[in-house]
Amino acid sequence: MAEAQPSRRRGGHAYGRRFHQMSNTAEEGELCLYVGHAIGRFSEKSMRYDSHQACTRCVASAREGRLSFDVNRLLKRWRPKALEFWSNVDIGAPDQCWNWHGKINTRTKQPQFPWRRAGIASSTQHHPQRVAMWLTWGDLGFTGVKTTCGNKYCCNPFHLIPQKVGVFVDHDSYHDSFELACELHTLKQQIHDYQMDKAIEKEVEVKRVAEVQARHDMLLDVDSGYNDRFEAVLTDMLEGRHISQTEAEDRDMYRQIPTDHAHEESDEDELTDF
Ligand SMILES: [Zn+2]
Ligand SMILES: [Zn+2]
Repeated sequence: MAEAQPSRRRGGHAYGRRFHQMSNTAEEGELCLYVGHAIGRFSEKSMRYDSHQACTRCVASAREGRLSFDVNRLLKRWRPKALEFWSNVDIGAPDQCWNWHGKINTRTKQPQFPWRRAGIASSTQHHPQRVAMWLTWGDLGFTGVKTTCGNKYCCNPFHLIPQKVGVFVDHDSYHDSFELACELHTLKQQIHDYQMDKAIEKEVEVKRVAEVQARHDMLLDVDSGYNDRFEAVLTDMLEGRHISQTEAEDRDMYRQIPTDHAHEESDEDELTDF
């Protein structure tokens, strides 16, 4: 190889560069999703190839053909995100297509997954195949990804090959790998637990809202007796949730929790991927 050349940055959207060859110079970039990929132990930066913002350590392991389903290899803060992502994928046998059943952009008909990745992409929506690549092959930035099956809804990492990285792919060894089978099994259990937790959270919330609504109705009802009102106020005060004891941020004040619309699907949010 000739002398190392930094990438000649071109204008336009970052994903447009996915067709170019990966540069062989790296710079300090956004912290990688994986544990131990920071520059130093307490650093909040990772080394990334300047052309595709791919983490150099992740590129090295992808080049050796290593891929993993182990959520615990990710930094703690990203593990729920990973489980949220995999909750939207029909995980099947290693040689089958794993279809995406999450959000599909109503306008472009492209599948998408919301994830804000500062320093990597300005778009808040990503193609699930790229996200699947990040969570298995490594944090390869906006490296292109192609399927071997041609199915645009397939998120099976065995069918996804990161492009222009020079990955080594040995499908037979993947299918025979006991380690990968174990990781996949664990992942499925973690997804199940995650979905259970979410369902319970939802149920608790529904119950809380119903309680707030019932109290509200009773207090505003002209026919409700003095005793009922007195008891309601007293129990609320003892539980510390009376209107005079709550702060504006307390969720008890709301029948509905204010939602953060940043992560919602919007049709204007272009998916420049693919
Ligand atoms: Zn990395
Ligand atoms: Zn497939």
